[in-house]
Amino acid sequence: MRQSSLVVVANRLPVDDSVAPDGACEWRRSPGGLVSALHPLLQHTPATWVGWAGGTGPAPMLADIDGVRMHTVPLAGDDVRDHYEGFANATLWPLYHDAVEQPVYHRRWWEAYQRINQRFADAAAEAAEPGAVVWVQDYHLQLVPGLLRSIRPDLRIGFFMHVPFPPPELFMQLPRRAELLLGMLGADLVGFQRPQAAHNFAQLATKVLGLAATDRRIAVDDRVVRIGAFPVSIDMTEMEALAERPDVVTRAARIRRDLGDPQHVLLSVDRMDYTKGIEQRLKAYSELLATGHVKVRDTVMVQVAVPSRERVEQYQILRERVEREVGRINGEFGRVGEPAIHYLTQPFDRSELAALYRAADIMAVTPLRDGMNLVAKEYVAARVDNGGALLLSEFAGAAAEFPEAFLVNPHDLEGLKLTLMHALQAIPADLTARMRAMREQLRVHDIRAWARSYLTALDQSGDLANRLT
Ligand code: UDP
Repeated sequence: MRQSSLVVVANRLPVDDSVAPDGACEWRRSPGGLVSALHPLLQHTPATWVGWAGGTGPAPMLADIDGVRMHTVPLAGDDVRDHYEGFANATLWPLYHDAVEQPVYHRRWWEAYQRINQRFADAAAEAAEPGAVVWVQDYHLQLVPGLLRSIRPDLRIGFFMHVPFPPPELFMQLPRRAELLLGMLGADLVGFQRPQAAHNFAQLATKVLGLAATDRRIAVDDRVVRIGAFPVSIDMTEMEALAERPDVVTRAARIRRDLGDPQHVLLSVDRMDYTKGIEQRLKAYSELLATGHVKVRDTVMVQVAVPSRERVEQYQILRERVEREVGRINGEFGRVGEPAIHYLTQPFDRSELAALYRAADIMAVTPLRDGMNLVAKEYVAARVDNGGALLLSEFAGAAAEFPEAFLVNPHDLEGLKLTLMHALQAIPADLTARMRAMREQLRVHDIRAWARSYLTALDQSGDLANRLT
């Protein structure tokens, strides 16, 4: 097989299957944080992407996507249940997000996690040419750097954690904490979204493994592993171009009209996930409706909540609770033809999202904890008119880059209500100044800057990073 000089290893390939008009199955670039983040980089570099195509049937033969070779790692039903839904999303995900839901520990899940990580490491070893750069992504694959180094010591290995990395008090709960740390330390560079996460990791390397560590370097055997913060971003020019497209502008106007041309459109776009603070936000909104601070005739809320991880119990319970609450709020405060909340669970494509962003006066992004939150950045990118207001949780990684947003603590119901009212009542000049500042920040720190800074740090020859300019 042909080998590549850059190999990206991620749980999912950047594709989704869909049914073409003629009934045939067709593979398309899929939406999602990581995919959106890496797409522009991979268009500029001959590369292979190692990942799972979704589904549990035989591995599909996939054509290159934007010049990137697709290397499929097939997973059986048990693998998905125990590795993806189990260890990754019912053990690590809640633990890494402040344990807002109780993490679940099962030995069988850990065994599957090891087995599947080995399979990804073997696939990466096969796809990488001698001396290649291999960039491993996220919490599903924390053991891959260590496993890969043991079979291919010639490679330059990077690991990037897209989700938060928790403080030692939480991480210490993990029954297999030493193995997980050692797996990540197989990399030459371990990247996080925030400096605090790198600090947590360094502390744990000392506490659990007895290693000499600072927030920048950890000594492991005869190697030095570098660590640091590289906040991920989005393709701002792509989103701006989309937001300026005449059909998107027309669609945004149409959305407002269909909503009854209210004074304010309040929008939220989330995966249906207990980390996103959907319930807290609904509660705040409902209380504002109850006290009459917000009136259905003037303000309309649109909540997009795309179901995910639907076989994991906590997600099923969350969806039921959210839908009951939306039903209650609409029943109590809506009128014929005027629901209080327009609730949508379909995934939207990027042009419809851009139209929604342009139609929204206020974008409420209030996760209880989030590694970055790309939706917040997409909203800012889409506001080519310097309009709109971003209500943003202090606990989203993006908050560190957007001090001009209306920042909130989503656990503080009164604070959430007050800040939302503040955003609703802000004068246009204030909103424009805030949006302008956020857009300037985003323009400098876009996806290309992220990829360049990470790859420059990883590949010290500078070769890969040069190809991004
Ligand atoms: N997204 C989408 N269609 C939808 C809802 C979301 O394409 O209907 C995309 C959105 O544009 C963003 C990503 O999904 O790029 C969500 O990323 P984020 O970092 O906000 O959250 P995550 O889902 O990764 O936790």
